[in-house]
Amino acid sequence: MNLKYYQKEMECMPEAELKKLQGERLAANFRHVYENVEYYRNRCKAAGVTPDDIKGLEDLDKIPFTCKDDLRATYPYGLFAVPMKDVVRVHASSGTTGKQIVVGYTAGDLEIWNDCCARQLVAIGAGSDDFVQNSYGYGMFTGGFGIHGGATKLGAAVIPVSSGNTTRQITFMRDFGSTVLCCTPSYAAYLGETLKEMGLSPSDIKLKAGIFGAEPWTEEMRADIEKALGIKAYDIYGLTEVMGPGVAYECFEQKGMHVNEDHFIIETIDPETGKRLPDGEKGELVFTAITKQAFPLMRFRTKDIGVLNRKRCACGRTFVRMSKPMGRTDDMLIIRGVNVFPSQIEGVLLQNGYQANYQIIVGRENNNDTFEIKVEMIPEKFSDVVSEVSKQEKLLESSLLTVLQIKAKVTLVAPKSIARSEGKAKRVIDTRKLHD
Ligand code: ADP
Ligand code: ZN
Repeated sequence: MNLKYYQKEMECMPEAELKKLQGERLAANFRHVYENVEYYRNRCKAAGVTPDDIKGLEDLDKIPFTCKDDLRATYPYGLFAVPMKDVVRVHASSGTTGKQIVVGYTAGDLEIWNDCCARQLVAIGAGSDDFVQNSYGYGMFTGGFGIHGGATKLGAAVIPVSSGNTTRQITFMRDFGSTVLCCTPSYAAYLGETLKEMGLSPSDIKLKAGIFGAEPWTEEMRADIEKALGIKAYDIYGLTEVMGPGVAYECFEQKGMHVNEDHFIIETIDPETGKRLPDGEKGELVFTAITKQAFPLMRFRTKDIGVLNRKRCACGRTFVRMSKPMGRTDDMLIIRGVNVFPSQIEGVLLQNGYQANYQIIVGRENNNDTFEIKVEMIPEKFSDVVSEVSKQEKLLESSLLTVLQIKAKVTLVAPKSIARSEGKAKRVIDTRKLHD
């Protein structure tokens, strides 16, 4: 069965009605957080805001922001708004200092998440007859379980293959008749190349569409993936703090991602002043969860830069569309779909007796991220014996893998060979050109 919308009454709700609903839900969820999260209540008290002040959408900018530092300060459960007995799932994502960001869901929250992901699947033409090959990682990362829940609720057949083991992925794709592929765009590109290397072509598989997100990708990359796999490739946006994948979804038009506005309010703000910007102006994306119960963040600053478009979409959905994220206000890198902060790398180097003289070099070859870290040897450990250097490199690579969860190539270089800067050190060289 193929549907045009998954929940038409929500996805196509007239704008005025949607605004009213958002206002009511905002007032109720703000009260819920205020009453149940002491940390956030203290912030509101300091700002002089109480639940009686938040009656509707027009009061949104009275509400204090939440940011990533707040999640670190309250690790692990300090921002949960329900008793732990009501939490049925916990996920985590990397934080800036190696400390994880921890989020939770009630059974009801999982249903909301499933609905949001099911909307994405339906919007790209999937239905209960489809075979969804889910090659997002399963585990603490939200990608795997998020899509899994949505596809299951839709009634599609899920192939929960997770990421990795690439030739096996192609074999499954061909033998099981996968029709929809879900993974990061870089993995999709790699699967496309592997298909070719295995002597196969898109005509040997049944894939018709793919849903790719969790990291930035370009229109050129979209074209490459579409060609290599013989599919239409769609973008999906999400983040652990707000829910996971499915916060916003692309439709057939492929012109921006519809934000699930019955569950999340999106705003753009000036990252310097915190002032709200009119739709159409580029700014930091801020989300407020208005239905989630276990972990409903109020005005969460994503550090992603984007633009909102309120023009009516040809697909009939009334939900606002957000652009692809156009960059970040912090130094977070997304490498092969994994969040990496330079500070995490620095931490590992210092723990291993190195100094903070390093350079991170990220590039892209054949649609795959390359990730190298040049580190200066310390004079005491200095060696020009190749086998000794390579042993030290391997040791550092394995410590980094434990913390970052992705592999980096370490190259040790002679002491004092990395240029010193007189101002802010230029630690990262990223040649991927992922943003306009
Ligand atoms: P996810 O599980 O969705 O990757 P994380 O919390 O690990 O969630 O990372 C979220 C970040 O990933 C976002 O803040 C954004 O920077 C990036 N991201 C997610 N989806 C996209 C996308 N479609 N395009 C560009 N960047 C994305
Ligand atoms: Zn649309």
